[in-house]
Amino acid sequence: MTLASDTPSPAGPLPRADRFDPLIASLQLERKIALLTGHTAFTMAPEPSIGLGEIALSDGPTGVRGLKFTGGRQVSLFPNATLLASAWSEESAELVGGLLAQEAMAQEIHVVLGPTINLHRSLLGGRLFEAYSEDPLLTGKLAAAYVRGLQRHRVGACLKHLVANESETLRNSMNSRLDEATLRELYLLPFEIAVQESQPWSVMAAYNDVNGVAATEHDHVVNRILKGEWDFGGLVMSDWFATKTAAPAANGGLDLVMPGPAGPWGDALVAAVRAGEVDESVIDDHLRRILVLADHVGALGQPRVFPTNLPAPGSSTRREQLTRLAADGITVLKNTGVLPLAPDVTVALIGRHAIETIEMGGGSAQVNPPYQVSVAQGLHALLGDRLTVTDGVDVRTRSVPARPGFVTDPRTGAPGVQVTLLDESSGTLLEYETPMIMVGFDDDLPRPAATAVFRARITADGPVELGFLGLGRWELEAGSAHLSATITPTSTDPGEAVLRPPSKFITVPVDGALDIIATADLRPDPGADAGSGPGLVGLLGLVARPAAPPSAQVLADAATAAAAADVAVIVVGLTEEQETESVDKTTLALPGEQDQLVFAVAAVAKRTVVVVNAATPILMPWLDQVDAVLWAGLPGQEGGHAVAATLVGDIEPAGRLVTTFPVADGAAPAWSVTPTDGTLDYGEGTFIGYRGHAAGRAPAPLFWLGHGLGYSTWEYGVPTLEPGDSAAPTVAVSITNSGDRDSREVVQIYFEPVEADQPVRLVGWQGVRVPAGRTSAVTVSTDARLWRRWDTAADAWTTLAPGGRLLVARGLGDVRGTLAL
Ligand code: BGC
Repeated sequence: MTLASDTPSPAGPLPRADRFDPLIASLQLERKIALLTGHTAFTMAPEPSIGLGEIALSDGPTGVRGLKFTGGRQVSLFPNATLLASAWSEESAELVGGLLAQEAMAQEIHVVLGPTINLHRSLLGGRLFEAYSEDPLLTGKLAAAYVRGLQRHRVGACLKHLVANESETLRNSMNSRLDEATLRELYLLPFEIAVQESQPWSVMAAYNDVNGVAATEHDHVVNRILKGEWDFGGLVMSDWFATKTAAPAANGGLDLVMPGPAGPWGDALVAAVRAGEVDESVIDDHLRRILVLADHVGALGQPRVFPTNLPAPGSSTRREQLTRLAADGITVLKNTGVLPLAPDVTVALIGRHAIETIEMGGGSAQVNPPYQVSVAQGLHALLGDRLTVTDGVDVRTRSVPARPGFVTDPRTGAPGVQVTLLDESSGTLLEYETPMIMVGFDDDLPRPAATAVFRARITADGPVELGFLGLGRWELEAGSAHLSATITPTSTDPGEAVLRPPSKFITVPVDGALDIIATADLRPDPGADAGSGPGLVGLLGLVARPAAPPSAQVLADAATAAAAADVAVIVVGLTEEQETESVDKTTLALPGEQDQLVFAVAAVAKRTVVVVNAATPILMPWLDQVDAVLWAGLPGQEGGHAVAATLVGDIEPAGRLVTTFPVADGAAPAWSVTPTDGTLDYGEGTFIGYRGHAAGRAPAPLFWLGHGLGYSTWEYGVPTLEPGDSAAPTVAVSITNSGDRDSREVVQIYFEPVEADQPVRLVGWQGVRVPAGRTSAVTVSTDARLWRRWDTAADAWTTLAPGGRLLVARGLGDVRGTLAL
């Protein structure tokens, strides 16, 4: 797979920035400060007098969504970060960066808000799907590669979220408490690696506090470490709405407040400068960093001409790339020999996730893809009538917007919903054709929206759930059925209306075609003070879906289908209710009665394969009852094709886990994500994930980081140390592909220090493709940054004590060699 190149410019060192000083000096203080707050939801303010254009920012990280939070143009949906990371391949991370740069350039976007490089601390974290791994080296190296891929095409990257932002509970106010050694050795390390190796042009400061100081005001982290010790020359922007103060944030190193145009800087920061609380040179430095970014991305001086000959989101080029990227990360967790599927088997495919495969997580990482291939569609394309498909148990507790295939626009008959946004005098403001819209955030309306009207037609034969989601005073009419309700927030979380809007529905018997009209009155409550606020900001959607049959019926149907086939493939998983921004999980158990479904099928099927459609670890109480488990992540728009290709062996699922799977809820070194009195203690220090399991701080896990069987078997020779650098040794080992197909192995090197208070850690890895029956000599260099410890008393790095052991392993559950140092 190659990346069509446009006009690559190597991501070299940031240029000396003082050449911008005359531009800065030409502006009045008020104007300078105005440029330090965003212009709109996703753009930065232009200043024609100095040739500064409007810089466009877009989430990130699993696609380039564009300037609209929802309902924007169609763009490619990539596999999620954990799935991409599971390839353990810097080459593919760099390729992804390059492809995202193309997606950005096609929309004239200058900066992609990614990669997310927070770590998988507690597995309850709702947003882990966006981040690569529990391991800082793997995370940092992949991030550096992704940044290189993006910035080579003059599209800026944004490392996020600095720092200690590993969970979502009370995310806007919580304080992460961690000691300096844990901060530097673990949570800052991915940022340090990426800054040192690929010089990203921006970084995003997180929502949370770190040791009592807001991340957007963190002089220690931002000024001393990032901009000082690491010599970071790029821009530090706030997470959206995260900035709380003027002078403390400006002095703390924050360069840009997002979004805009309103925000806490403006006049307040002008006043703070006039009062001597902030030196004007601080303001100049912030502006200088904006100009450096603008210069890199082509928004300073002559405006950039973006290439136009880029692959479309649904093009065959993208299809091939996205299938391959997803398949390369898919990981074989267990296999007694049923996989890859034999060429002539009949397959009973079972499960809601088989039909409605979850291809992405929830929140700001969501994009609007041209299509999403389900596992059922992907496998049907390969097996044809050797496949039966049976729906499974319900997997959600909340409502989701209607699927465009189930609802049609009554005017055109095309899949979708007719939505009209009206102003106070019933004038049309905007029209959409999607089941869900966003109001009040990025719609740039000339006047506030007063009413949203959803019209749709369904055709069904049985009970259907009809309703609406999102805040407002709602009325729904469908034939003789009527639902009227006022939906108000259920929590104080400002993200609720945008990220998990509450809903209401009724179950209605339907026989044939039915027209639905739902109207949301969005005006402030008539009882509230006039002008009491800007009105609603949030998502609104129409709910319409077939009501689920009783689960006993679903289980019985699944068992019947399973018994009739050679192999049962059950697809289970999580949804955007668990894997989302703004909410953490409470358990790793599969939602609904999915475990019961697996037991019921495994009890009668000749062979049972479970495909896990989730980005992060789940519990597998049925593991002993099934023949194979394939972990498929959130595989992006080509997910179904990728899963199908790996099931039949057209592409080897050669992924290795990026996070350790515990045996039970709580059986991990770090668990709770609920702050106590506002503070979440990172008390496990640097012993998260496999590091803590290996130290006996949690029971042995189900699967270790680095585990993954692929479709071949491997023999390892005796490892040796290469002569040379003793600070970061290089390991040589020969490996033999003892299976009967060509395969890719990931040789992993872990270091076990002599100090008891220092955990075992991954220090290097090397992926290598080896033909069947052949032997390959592999050398793996290790990273000196893993041989340091932070000496708090000396306020400096020191080298770890000499000695210790290196482990050559396929995950710590399968150690193939050791080397004393
Ligand atoms: C997220 C960021 C994202 C930003 C803009 C925030 O809620 O935490 O990761 O880039 O929104 O959408």
